[in-house]
Amino acid sequence: MISPHVAADPAARLRERLYAGIYLSPTRFANIERFVDAAGPYLHRTDGDDPVAALRRAASAARPDGPLADDDLATRWLLAEELRSIADAEVPAAVVPAEQALHDAVAPVRARLAALGLPLDDRPVSVVDRYPAPFGDVGLAAFVPGRDQARAAGTELAVHLRRDRLRPFHSVTILAHELVHTVTDRAGTPYGIKGLEEGLAELLGCCWAAAAVVPAPALRAILLHGRQGAGRAPLWTVYGDHLRQAALLYREYGLTGLAALVTAGRERIREVEVAVLTGRHRDLDLPRGGWDESTARLLDGLTGGSLPSYVLAPLDLLLADHVQDGRTLAEVCALADVPPAVGVPRLGATAAATALFRVDGEVVHDSIVERYHTVRRLGGQPVLRWLPPPA
Ligand SMILES: [Zn+2]
Repeated sequence: MISPHVAADPAARLRERLYAGIYLSPTRFANIERFVDAAGPYLHRTDGDDPVAALRRAASAARPDGPLADDDLATRWLLAEELRSIADAEVPAAVVPAEQALHDAVAPVRARLAALGLPLDDRPVSVVDRYPAPFGDVGLAAFVPGRDQARAAGTELAVHLRRDRLRPFHSVTILAHELVHTVTDRAGTPYGIKGLEEGLAELLGCCWAAAAVVPAPALRAILLHGRQGAGRAPLWTVYGDHLRQAALLYREYGLTGLAALVTAGRERIREVEVAVLTGRHRDLDLPRGGWDESTARLLDGLTGGSLPSYVLAPLDLLLADHVQDGRTLAEVCALADVPPAVGVPRLGATAAATALFRVDGEVVHDSIVERYHTVRRLGGQPVLRWLPPPA
């Protein structure tokens, strides 16, 4: 069901197109909330024009004239670059409105989880403006009351998602994640803080089940922005850490073993988390099987091969884009359009702080930045990222 409100509201459609583009483009910001906040003042949609035109206008409006003399100007330059790439992203028509796409995704996502033998119940998926009482103040994009909670409150057993928080692709991954929790809830132990269970929900929900409808690059971007951001609440990094634990188990036991673990319930998952943390995770009594190539590739990149630590200030990233072995610092500054009085000391500070390159006699030496430029050209996971300033 499409909400006429969401489908017709130009601001909501622009927001949805912005997020769809973010998840389908090679962006380099390391904090998605700060990026969206920083882009906000440039994003205006007038009646009659399409969201892509509004994104292109925002990119032009953000782009500064003249040399990039400080982080504010560098932020605007990077905003312009990112918004242009977001506007250029080819967004399939079926992913907006996000509410319709979410409802369309329920059956294929459930089918993927059911194919692993997970005993899903038939609770509905409900998009709401406010969670049912007494949960109205829950500040999450999705809320799934546990069986005991729902019974005590006299509310319907459902997966609730907040309408104003829906995003293309992202809401499908949240739905898939929450459906995994409904299985452990079924197995009987009290609702509560979950630890490794979050990683299992990320792996079986986001990485496996959501892949029924969400393309792999969007899944990677969602997990990268959601779990490997910088300057965000530690909660999100913890989700990434639990995904890494779940990936260890996946490599040993496959989807079959993880599905058996989820079906066994929360107490068993807690025991297994202790086994992971004490190095006994390869000795568990779990069935093995069901290794899936695209899930393995996604996990290998996110939990194995990635380098999430290189997060730079906006001006430092623009300078790093031109770092090359043998170049003088003045040449790098000229290529980046940064005044040398500003750029030379900043390059020295980056060299000292990051081990990306060395500066000797005003010349770049031993740079490893070029290989990360190659990664970017080849469409790999971004290594050098920038941190938008807080609002
Ligand atoms: Zn969860």
